[in-house]
Amino acid sequence: MDNLLVMKFGGTSMGSADRIRVAAGLAAEQHAHGPMVVVVSAMSKITDLLLDTLRKAEAGDQTDLEANLHQLSARHMECCSLLLPPERQPAAVAGIRALIEDFSRIAKGILMLGERPPRSVDEAVAVGERLSALLMAEYLEARGIPAAAVNAAEIVATDALFGNASPLMEPTRQRVVKVLRPLLEKRVLPVVTGFNGSTLDGRPTTLGRGGSDFSASILAAALDARELWIWTDVDGIMTADPRLAPNAQVLDAITYAEAAELAYNGAKVLHPRTLAPLAERGIPVWSKNSFAPEKPGTRIVPKVESPQGVHAVTSMADVALVSIEPASAALSGTKVMARSLDALARANVELLAITSSSYQQSFCFLVRQSELERAKEFLEEDLALEFAHGYLRPLQVDPHVGLIAVVGEGMRGTPGLAGRIFTAISKHSINIIAIAQGSSELTIAIVVNRSGLEKAVRAVHDECGLGK
Ligand code: ADP
Ligand code: ASP
Ligand code: MG
Repeated sequence: MDNLLVMKFGGTSMGSADRIRVAAGLAAEQHAHGPMVVVVSAMSKITDLLLDTLRKAEAGDQTDLEANLHQLSARHMECCSLLLPPERQPAAVAGIRALIEDFSRIAKGILMLGERPPRSVDEAVAVGERLSALLMAEYLEARGIPAAAVNAAEIVATDALFGNASPLMEPTRQRVVKVLRPLLEKRVLPVVTGFNGSTLDGRPTTLGRGGSDFSASILAAALDARELWIWTDVDGIMTADPRLAPNAQVLDAITYAEAAELAYNGAKVLHPRTLAPLAERGIPVWSKNSFAPEKPGTRIVPKVESPQGVHAVTSMADVALVSIEPASAALSGTKVMARSLDALARANVELLAITSSSYQQSFCFLVRQSELERAKEFLEEDLALEFAHGYLRPLQVDPHVGLIAVVGEGMRGTPGLAGRIFTAISKHSINIIAIAQGSSELTIAIVVNRSGLEKAVRAVHDECGLGK
Protein backbone atom coordinates (compact mmCIF):
# COMPACT_ATOMS: atom_id res chain seq x y z
CA MET A 1 0.00 0.00 0.00
CA ASP A 2 1.36 3.40 -1.00
CA ASN A 3 2.29 6.04 1.50
CA LEU A 4 1.68 3.89 4.58
CA LEU A 5 3.05 5.04 7.94
CA VAL A 6 3.79 2.75 10.88
CA MET A 7 3.84 4.26 14.39
CA LYS A 8 4.99 2.50 17.53
CA PHE A 9 4.23 3.65 21.06
CA GLY A 10 6.46 2.39 23.90
CA GLY A 11 5.46 1.51 27.45
CA THR A 12 5.67 5.00 28.94
CA SER A 13 3.79 6.42 25.93
CA MET A 14 0.99 3.94 26.77
CA GLY A 15 1.45 4.17 30.55
CA SER A 16 -1.84 5.79 31.65
CA ALA A 17 -5.20 6.99 30.35
CA ASP A 18 -3.69 10.41 29.73
CA ARG A 19 -0.75 8.98 27.81
CA ILE A 20 -3.00 6.76 25.67
CA ARG A 21 -5.11 9.83 24.87
CA VAL A 22 -2.01 11.68 23.67
CA ALA A 23 -0.79 8.66 21.69
CA ALA A 24 -4.18 8.19 20.04
CA GLY A 25 -4.20 11.90 19.17
CA LEU A 26 -0.79 11.60 17.47
CA ALA A 27 -1.98 8.56 15.54
CA ALA A 28 -5.29 10.20 14.56
CA GLU A 29 -3.48 13.28 13.24
CA GLN A 30 -1.44 11.20 10.76
CA HIS A 31 -4.29 8.78 9.99
CA ALA A 32 -6.19 11.75 8.57
CA HIS A 33 -3.46 12.13 5.90
CA GLY A 34 -3.12 8.52 4.79
CA PRO A 35 -3.08 4.86 5.70
CA MET A 36 -1.33 3.82 8.88
CA VAL A 37 -0.73 0.99 11.32
CA VAL A 38 -0.14 1.48 15.03
CA VAL A 39 2.00 -0.89 17.11
CA VAL A 40 1.79 -0.71 20.89
CA SER A 41 3.81 -1.89 23.87
CA ALA A 42 2.19 -3.00 27.10
CA MET A 43 1.56 -0.20 29.63
CA SER A 44 4.84 0.63 31.42
CA LYS A 45 5.99 -1.99 33.98
CA ILE A 46 3.25 -4.44 32.97
CA THR A 47 5.59 -6.92 31.24
CA ASP A 48 7.74 -6.96 34.40
CA LEU A 49 4.62 -7.60 36.47
CA LEU A 50 3.49 -10.46 34.21
CA LEU A 51 6.91 -12.12 34.28
CA ASP A 52 7.11 -11.70 38.05
CA THR A 53 3.68 -13.31 38.38
CA LEU A 54 4.79 -16.34 36.39
CA ARG A 55 7.92 -16.69 38.51
CA LYS A 56 5.79 -16.54 41.66
CA ALA A 57 3.50 -19.17 40.18
CA GLU A 58 6.43 -21.46 39.45
CA ALA A 59 7.66 -21.01 43.02
CA GLY A 60 4.22 -22.07 44.29
CA ASP A 61 3.54 -18.67 45.82
CA GLN A 62 -0.24 -18.45 45.48
CA THR A 63 -0.73 -15.38 47.70
CA ASP A 64 1.69 -13.24 45.67
CA LEU A 65 0.22 -14.57 42.45
CA GLU A 66 -3.26 -13.42 43.48
CA ALA A 67 -1.89 -10.04 44.61
CA ASN A 68 -0.22 -9.55 41.22
CA LEU A 69 -3.39 -10.53 39.34
CA HIS A 70 -5.26 -7.99 41.39
CA GLN A 71 -2.71 -5.31 40.54
CA LEU A 72 -2.86 -6.21 36.84
CA SER A 73 -6.61 -5.91 36.80
CA ALA A 74 -6.72 -2.71 38.90
CA ARG A 75 -4.25 -0.87 36.62
CA HIS A 76 -6.16 -1.68 33.42
CA MET A 77 -9.62 -1.20 34.89
CA GLU A 78 -8.63 2.19 36.24
CA CYS A 79 -7.21 3.19 32.88
CA CYS A 80 -10.37 1.97 31.16
CA SER A 81 -12.64 3.96 33.45
CA LEU A 82 -10.61 7.15 32.99
CA LEU A 83 -10.23 6.70 29.24
CA LEU A 84 -13.59 5.65 27.85
CA PRO A 85 -17.06 7.18 27.92
CA PRO A 86 -19.62 5.26 30.04
CA GLU A 87 -21.39 3.67 27.06
CA ARG A 88 -18.20 1.98 25.88
CA GLN A 89 -17.14 0.72 29.31
CA PRO A 90 -19.06 -2.57 29.53
CA ALA A 91 -17.62 -4.02 26.31
CA ALA A 92 -14.08 -2.88 27.19
CA VAL A 93 -14.34 -4.21 30.74
CA ALA A 94 -15.50 -7.58 29.39
CA GLY A 95 -12.55 -7.60 26.97
CA ILE A 96 -10.05 -6.78 29.73
CA ARG A 97 -11.54 -9.47 31.98
CA ALA A 98 -11.29 -12.09 29.24
CA LEU A 99 -7.62 -11.27 28.57
CA ILE A 100 -6.71 -11.30 32.26
CA GLU A 101 -8.55 -14.60 32.54
CA ASP A 102 -6.34 -15.96 29.70
CA PHE A 103 -3.26 -14.88 31.63
CA SER A 104 -4.56 -16.19 34.94
CA ARG A 105 -5.34 -19.61 33.43
CA ILE A 106 -1.74 -19.97 32.23
CA ALA A 107 -0.30 -18.66 35.52
CA LYS A 108 -2.40 -21.14 37.50
CA GLY A 109 -1.29 -23.95 35.22
CA ILE A 110 2.31 -23.00 36.00
CA LEU A 111 1.48 -22.95 39.73
CA MET A 112 0.12 -26.48 39.50
CA LEU A 113 3.02 -27.78 37.42
CA GLY A 114 5.72 -25.96 39.38
CA GLU A 115 7.34 -25.34 36.01
CA ARG A 116 7.42 -22.47 33.49
CA PRO A 117 7.52 -23.86 29.94
CA PRO A 118 8.90 -21.11 27.64
CA ARG A 119 6.01 -21.31 25.18
CA SER A 120 3.45 -20.81 27.98
CA VAL A 121 5.47 -17.81 29.19
CA ASP A 122 5.36 -16.31 25.71
CA GLU A 123 1.63 -16.81 25.38
CA ALA A 124 1.02 -15.33 28.84
CA VAL A 125 3.33 -12.35 28.60
CA ALA A 126 1.80 -11.13 25.32
CA VAL A 127 -1.36 -10.39 27.29
CA GLY A 128 0.24 -7.06 28.34
CA GLU A 129 0.29 -5.84 24.74
CA ARG A 130 -3.14 -7.32 24.01
CA LEU A 131 -4.57 -5.28 26.89
CA SER A 132 -3.00 -2.01 25.78
CA ALA A 133 -4.00 -2.59 22.14
CA LEU A 134 -7.58 -3.14 23.24
CA LEU A 135 -7.61 0.10 25.27
CA MET A 136 -6.09 2.14 22.44
CA ALA A 137 -8.48 0.72 19.80
CA GLU A 138 -11.52 1.29 22.05
CA TYR A 139 -10.44 4.86 22.67
CA LEU A 140 -9.90 5.59 18.96
CA GLU A 141 -13.36 4.19 18.23
CA ALA A 142 -14.79 6.39 20.98
CA ARG A 143 -13.24 9.37 19.16
CA GLY A 144 -14.99 8.32 15.98
CA ILE A 145 -11.95 6.75 14.30
CA PRO A 146 -12.69 3.20 13.14
CA ALA A 147 -9.98 1.03 14.72
CA ALA A 148 -9.36 -2.63 15.50
CA ALA A 149 -7.06 -4.27 18.04
CA VAL A 150 -5.02 -6.96 16.28
CA ASN A 151 -3.03 -9.69 18.01
CA ALA A 152 0.36 -9.91 16.26
CA ALA A 153 0.27 -13.69 16.82
CA GLU A 154 -2.02 -13.62 13.77
CA ILE A 155 0.49 -11.67 11.69
CA VAL A 156 4.12 -11.95 12.71
CA ALA A 157 5.43 -15.39 11.76
CA THR A 158 8.54 -16.46 13.67
CA ASP A 159 10.82 -19.39 14.34
CA ALA A 160 10.27 -21.38 17.54
CA LEU A 161 12.98 -19.78 19.70
CA PHE A 162 10.57 -18.92 22.50
CA GLY A 163 11.45 -15.75 24.37
CA ASN A 164 13.73 -14.46 21.61
CA ALA A 165 12.15 -15.50 18.33
CA SER A 166 13.19 -14.24 14.88
CA PRO A 167 10.72 -13.25 12.19
CA LEU A 168 10.08 -15.23 9.02
CA MET A 169 9.50 -12.40 6.59
CA GLU A 170 7.79 -14.13 3.68
CA PRO A 171 5.05 -15.85 5.74
CA THR A 172 4.67 -12.59 7.69
CA ARG A 173 4.04 -10.74 4.42
CA GLN A 174 1.38 -13.26 3.49
CA ARG A 175 -0.31 -12.96 6.87
CA VAL A 176 -0.16 -9.16 6.66
CA VAL A 177 -1.96 -9.25 3.31
CA LYS A 178 -4.62 -11.53 4.77
CA VAL A 179 -5.19 -9.77 8.09
CA LEU A 180 -4.17 -6.11 7.77
CA ARG A 181 -4.90 -5.27 4.17
CA PRO A 182 -8.69 -5.74 4.41
CA LEU A 183 -8.73 -3.42 7.45
CA LEU A 184 -6.61 -0.79 5.70
CA GLU A 185 -8.79 -0.91 2.61
CA LYS A 186 -11.81 -0.14 4.78
CA ARG A 187 -9.89 2.76 6.40
CA VAL A 188 -9.92 0.92 9.74
CA LEU A 189 -6.83 1.75 11.82
CA PRO A 190 -5.17 -1.48 13.01
CA VAL A 191 -3.70 -1.29 16.52
CA VAL A 192 -1.29 -4.22 16.55
CA THR A 193 0.35 -5.73 19.65
CA GLY A 194 4.11 -5.28 19.76
CA PHE A 195 6.47 -7.92 21.16
CA ASN A 196 4.69 -11.12 20.08
CA GLY A 197 4.20 -13.42 17.11
CA SER A 198 3.62 -17.09 16.46
CA THR A 199 5.30 -20.02 14.76
CA LEU A 200 4.06 -21.32 11.41
CA ASP A 201 2.02 -23.92 13.28
CA GLY A 202 0.48 -21.26 15.50
CA ARG A 203 2.43 -21.54 18.77
CA PRO A 204 2.77 -18.11 20.49
CA THR A 205 6.24 -16.54 20.64
CA THR A 206 7.87 -13.28 21.73
CA LEU A 207 10.73 -11.31 20.20
CA GLY A 208 12.78 -10.58 23.35
CA ARG A 209 12.51 -7.80 25.92
CA GLY A 210 11.95 -4.40 24.38
CA GLY A 211 10.82 -6.23 21.23
CA SER A 212 7.95 -3.91 20.24
CA ASP A 213 10.41 -1.73 18.30
CA PHE A 214 11.34 -4.86 16.35
CA SER A 215 7.65 -5.73 15.80
CA ALA A 216 7.10 -2.28 14.35
CA SER A 217 10.05 -2.58 11.97
CA ILE A 218 8.97 -6.08 10.88
CA LEU A 219 5.53 -4.71 10.03
CA ALA A 220 6.95 -1.60 8.35
CA ALA A 221 9.08 -3.85 6.13
CA ALA A 222 6.27 -6.31 5.42
CA LEU A 223 3.95 -3.43 4.49
CA ASP A 224 6.59 -1.52 2.54
CA ALA A 225 5.86 1.51 4.69
CA ARG A 226 7.08 4.98 3.72
CA GLU A 227 8.37 5.61 7.28
CA LEU A 228 8.40 4.20 10.80
CA TRP A 229 7.93 6.55 13.75
CA ILE A 230 8.96 5.21 17.16
CA TRP A 231 7.46 7.25 19.99
CA THR A 232 9.29 7.04 23.31
CA ASP A 233 10.00 9.14 26.41
CA VAL A 234 13.13 11.03 25.31
CA ASP A 235 13.62 13.55 22.48
CA GLY A 236 15.30 11.03 20.18
CA ILE A 237 18.55 9.14 20.03
CA MET A 238 21.03 10.95 22.18
CA THR A 239 24.81 11.17 22.41
CA ALA A 240 24.55 9.04 25.59
CA ASP A 241 21.90 7.66 27.91
CA PRO A 242 20.68 10.88 29.57
CA ARG A 243 20.37 9.00 32.86
CA LEU A 244 24.17 8.51 32.82
CA ALA A 245 25.26 11.70 31.09
CA PRO A 246 22.85 14.53 31.97
CA ASN A 247 24.48 16.80 29.37
CA ALA A 248 23.72 14.35 26.51
CA GLN A 249 22.28 15.92 23.35
CA VAL A 250 19.75 14.73 20.82
CA LEU A 251 21.17 13.71 17.44
CA ASP A 252 19.46 15.08 14.31
CA ALA A 253 20.32 12.09 12.19
CA ILE A 254 22.25 8.86 12.40
CA THR A 255 22.72 5.91 10.08
CA TYR A 256 21.15 2.45 10.41
CA ALA A 257 24.61 1.07 11.14
CA GLU A 258 25.27 3.57 13.93
CA ALA A 259 21.84 3.04 15.47
CA ALA A 260 22.29 -0.72 15.34
CA GLU A 261 25.74 -0.47 16.98
CA LEU A 262 24.30 1.71 19.75
CA ALA A 263 21.39 -0.64 20.31
CA TYR A 264 23.53 -3.80 20.31
CA ASN A 265 25.87 -2.14 22.78
CA GLY A 266 23.19 -1.33 25.30
CA ALA A 267 21.29 1.84 24.25
CA LYS A 268 17.84 0.84 25.42
CA VAL A 269 16.14 3.44 23.22
CA LEU A 270 16.03 0.91 20.34
CA HIS A 271 15.72 -2.85 20.32
CA PRO A 272 18.96 -4.16 18.74
CA ARG A 273 17.29 -5.97 15.87
CA THR A 274 15.02 -3.07 14.83
CA LEU A 275 17.03 -1.83 11.89
CA ALA A 276 17.67 -5.13 10.11
CA PRO A 277 14.27 -5.59 8.40
CA LEU A 278 14.29 -1.97 7.18
CA ALA A 279 17.75 -1.85 5.67
CA GLU A 280 16.89 -3.76 2.50
CA ARG A 281 14.16 -1.27 1.57
CA GLY A 282 15.84 1.78 3.11
CA ILE A 283 12.72 2.71 5.10
CA PRO A 284 13.55 5.76 7.26
CA VAL A 285 12.86 5.65 11.01
CA TRP A 286 12.15 8.54 13.35
CA SER A 287 12.71 8.30 17.09
CA LYS A 288 10.41 10.86 18.72
CA ASN A 289 9.20 11.94 22.15
CA SER A 290 5.47 11.48 22.78
CA PHE A 291 5.88 13.83 25.76
CA ALA A 292 7.16 16.59 23.44
CA PRO A 293 5.80 15.73 19.98
CA GLU A 294 6.62 19.16 18.57
CA LYS A 295 10.35 18.37 18.77
CA PRO A 296 11.81 16.96 15.56
CA GLY A 297 13.38 13.79 17.02
CA THR A 298 16.15 11.76 15.39
CA ARG A 299 16.02 10.53 11.83
CA ILE A 300 17.63 7.13 11.19
CA VAL A 301 18.61 6.74 7.56
CA PRO A 302 20.74 4.45 5.37
CA LYS A 303 23.47 7.10 4.89
CA VAL A 304 24.42 10.59 6.03
CA GLU A 305 26.55 13.04 4.08
CA SER A 306 30.03 13.72 5.53
CA PRO A 307 29.72 12.06 8.96
CA GLN A 308 31.54 13.86 11.77
CA GLY A 309 33.73 12.01 14.29
CA VAL A 310 32.16 10.27 17.25
CA HIS A 311 28.38 10.34 17.39
CA ALA A 312 27.50 8.65 20.66
CA VAL A 313 28.70 6.62 23.64
CA THR A 314 26.81 3.74 25.15
CA SER A 315 27.40 1.16 27.84
CA MET A 316 26.36 -2.21 29.20
CA ALA A 317 26.64 -3.13 32.86
CA ASP A 318 25.40 -6.70 33.20
CA VAL A 319 28.23 -8.41 31.37
CA ALA A 320 31.08 -10.79 32.19
CA LEU A 321 34.49 -11.34 30.65
CA VAL A 322 35.50 -14.96 30.02
CA SER A 323 39.16 -15.81 29.29
CA ILE A 324 40.48 -19.00 27.74
CA GLU A 325 44.19 -19.68 27.84
CA PRO A 326 46.11 -22.70 26.54
CA ALA A 327 48.65 -24.06 29.05
CA SER A 328 50.58 -25.98 26.45
CA ALA A 329 52.15 -24.84 23.18
CA ALA A 330 51.08 -28.18 21.70
CA LEU A 331 47.54 -26.91 21.50
CA SER A 332 46.55 -24.77 18.50
CA GLY A 333 45.08 -21.54 19.82
CA THR A 334 43.15 -21.08 16.59
CA LYS A 335 41.54 -24.49 16.95
CA VAL A 336 40.61 -23.84 20.58
CA MET A 337 39.06 -20.56 19.50
CA ALA A 338 37.11 -22.23 16.70
CA ARG A 339 35.75 -24.89 19.02
CA SER A 340 34.89 -22.32 21.69
CA LEU A 341 33.00 -20.18 19.21
CA ASP A 342 31.16 -23.24 17.96
CA ALA A 343 30.18 -24.14 21.55
CA LEU A 344 28.94 -20.60 22.17
CA ALA A 345 26.95 -20.60 18.94
CA ARG A 346 25.24 -23.85 19.87
CA ALA A 347 24.55 -22.46 23.35
CA ASN A 348 22.89 -19.52 21.58
CA VAL A 349 25.09 -17.11 23.52
CA GLU A 350 25.77 -13.75 21.93
CA LEU A 351 29.40 -12.58 21.83
CA LEU A 352 29.46 -8.88 22.64
CA ALA A 353 33.18 -8.42 22.03
CA ILE A 354 36.21 -10.61 21.53
CA THR A 355 39.97 -10.00 21.65
CA SER A 356 42.93 -12.32 21.33
CA SER A 357 46.68 -12.40 21.73
CA SER A 358 48.72 -14.27 19.18
CA TYR A 359 51.72 -14.93 21.44
CA GLN A 360 50.00 -16.85 24.22
CA GLN A 361 47.16 -17.89 21.93
CA SER A 362 44.79 -16.77 24.67
CA PHE A 363 41.59 -14.94 24.06
CA CYS A 364 38.77 -13.39 25.98
CA PHE A 365 35.22 -12.49 25.17
CA LEU A 366 32.35 -10.63 26.69
CA VAL A 367 28.89 -12.12 27.25
CA ARG A 368 25.74 -11.03 29.06
CA GLN A 369 25.63 -12.17 32.68
CA SER A 370 22.27 -13.76 31.97
CA GLU A 371 23.97 -16.01 29.40
CA LEU A 372 27.15 -16.70 31.39
CA GLU A 373 26.13 -19.99 33.01
CA ARG A 374 25.02 -21.42 29.66
CA ALA A 375 28.25 -20.26 28.05
CA LYS A 376 30.35 -21.91 30.77
CA GLU A 377 28.38 -25.13 30.63
CA PHE A 378 28.83 -25.54 26.87
CA LEU A 379 32.51 -24.55 26.92
CA GLU A 380 33.35 -26.87 29.81
CA GLU A 381 31.57 -29.74 28.14
CA ASP A 382 33.06 -29.23 24.68
CA LEU A 383 36.59 -28.71 25.97
CA ALA A 384 36.28 -31.18 28.86
CA LEU A 385 39.29 -33.28 27.85
CA GLU A 386 41.60 -30.29 27.40
CA PHE A 387 40.62 -28.93 30.80
CA ALA A 388 40.94 -32.34 32.45
CA HIS A 389 44.44 -32.91 31.06
CA GLY A 390 45.59 -29.41 31.87
CA TYR A 391 46.11 -28.38 28.23
CA LEU A 392 43.86 -25.43 28.99
CA ARG A 393 44.00 -23.35 32.13
CA PRO A 394 40.72 -23.27 34.09
CA LEU A 395 38.16 -20.86 32.61
CA GLN A 396 38.54 -17.42 34.09
CA VAL A 397 35.44 -15.31 34.55
CA ASP A 398 35.37 -11.68 35.61
CA PRO A 399 31.82 -10.52 36.33
CA HIS A 400 32.94 -7.13 37.67
CA VAL A 401 33.30 -5.48 34.29
CA GLY A 402 31.29 -3.20 32.02
CA LEU A 403 31.36 -2.37 28.32
CA ILE A 404 31.65 1.07 26.78
CA ALA A 405 31.07 1.48 23.06
CA VAL A 406 32.02 4.62 21.18
CA VAL A 407 30.14 4.85 17.90
CA GLY A 408 30.37 7.02 14.78
CA GLU A 409 30.75 6.57 11.02
CA GLY A 410 33.09 9.56 11.04
CA MET A 411 35.60 7.77 13.29
CA ARG A 412 36.92 5.94 10.27
CA GLY A 413 40.37 7.22 9.57
CA THR A 414 40.36 9.86 12.33
CA PRO A 415 43.88 9.45 13.72
CA GLY A 416 44.51 9.81 17.44
CA LEU A 417 40.92 9.30 18.46
CA ALA A 418 41.42 5.97 20.21
CA GLY A 419 44.37 7.38 22.12
CA ARG A 420 42.34 10.34 23.36
CA ILE A 421 39.53 8.03 24.46
CA PHE A 422 41.84 5.72 26.40
CA THR A 423 43.61 8.67 28.02
CA ALA A 424 40.28 10.17 29.10
CA ILE A 425 39.34 6.90 30.79
CA SER A 426 42.73 6.39 32.41
CA LYS A 427 42.72 9.93 33.82
CA HIS A 428 39.97 8.77 36.17
CA SER A 429 42.11 5.80 37.31
CA ILE A 430 39.72 3.42 35.62
CA ASN A 431 41.37 0.20 34.54
CA ILE A 432 40.95 -0.71 30.85
CA ILE A 433 40.74 -4.50 30.65
CA ALA A 434 40.18 -5.19 26.95
CA ILE A 435 39.68 -3.30 23.71
CA ALA A 436 37.99 -4.38 20.49
CA GLN A 437 37.38 -2.57 17.26
CA GLY A 438 35.38 -4.04 14.40
CA SER A 439 36.86 -3.90 10.91
CA SER A 440 34.19 -1.39 9.91
CA GLU A 441 35.83 1.11 12.33
CA LEU A 442 32.35 2.18 13.32
CA THR A 443 32.72 1.25 16.98
CA ILE A 444 35.45 1.03 19.56
CA ALA A 445 34.45 -1.30 22.38
CA ILE A 446 36.24 -0.97 25.70
CA VAL A 447 35.90 -3.27 28.70
CA VAL A 448 36.52 -1.51 32.01
CA ASN A 449 36.08 -2.22 35.72
CA ARG A 450 32.38 -2.20 36.52
CA SER A 451 32.89 0.33 39.32
CA GLY A 452 34.28 2.87 36.85
CA LEU A 453 31.73 2.35 34.08
CA GLU A 454 29.46 5.36 34.56
CA LYS A 455 32.39 7.68 35.17
CA ALA A 456 34.10 6.38 32.03
CA VAL A 457 30.97 7.03 29.93
CA ARG A 458 30.90 10.64 31.09
CA ALA A 459 34.65 11.05 30.56
CA VAL A 460 34.55 9.74 26.97
CA HIS A 461 31.38 11.71 26.23
CA ASP A 462 33.08 14.93 27.35
CA GLU A 463 36.41 14.12 25.67
CA CYS A 464 34.64 13.62 22.34
CA GLY A 465 32.86 16.97 22.75
CA LEU A 466 29.41 15.40 22.74
CA GLY A 467 27.90 17.18 25.78
CA LYS A 468 25.85 20.35 25.72
P1 ADP B 1 10.01 2.60 25.30
O1 ADP B 1 9.21 2.11 26.46
O2 ADP B 1 9.40 3.81 24.66
O3 ADP B 1 10.38 1.54 24.34
P2 ADP B 1 12.64 2.48 26.54
O4 ADP B 1 12.62 2.67 28.02
O5 ADP B 1 12.74 1.09 26.02
O6 ADP B 1 11.35 3.21 25.94
O7 ADP B 1 13.80 3.35 25.88
C1 ADP B 1 13.89 4.73 26.17
C2 ADP B 1 14.99 4.97 27.19
O8 ADP B 1 16.25 4.60 26.63
C3 ADP B 1 15.19 6.42 27.57
O9 ADP B 1 14.33 6.81 28.62
C4 ADP B 1 16.67 6.49 27.95
O10 ADP B 1 16.85 6.51 29.33
C5 ADP B 1 17.27 5.20 27.41
N1 ADP B 1 18.45 5.43 26.58
C6 ADP B 1 19.60 4.72 26.68
N2 ADP B 1 20.51 5.15 25.79
C7 ADP B 1 19.93 6.18 25.11
C8 ADP B 1 20.38 7.03 24.05
N3 ADP B 1 21.60 6.93 23.51
N4 ADP B 1 19.49 7.94 23.59
C9 ADP B 1 18.28 8.06 24.11
N5 ADP B 1 17.81 7.29 25.12
C10 ADP B 1 18.62 6.35 25.62
N1 ASP C 1 6.49 -4.93 26.69
C1 ASP C 1 7.70 -5.58 26.23
C2 ASP C 1 8.81 -5.37 27.23
O1 ASP C 1 8.64 -4.67 28.22
C3 ASP C 1 8.08 -5.13 24.86
C4 ASP C 1 8.38 -3.65 24.72
O2 ASP C 1 7.99 -2.85 25.55
O3 ASP C 1 9.01 -3.30 23.71
O4 ASP C 1 9.87 -5.93 27.07
MG1 MG D 1 11.83 0.01 24.44
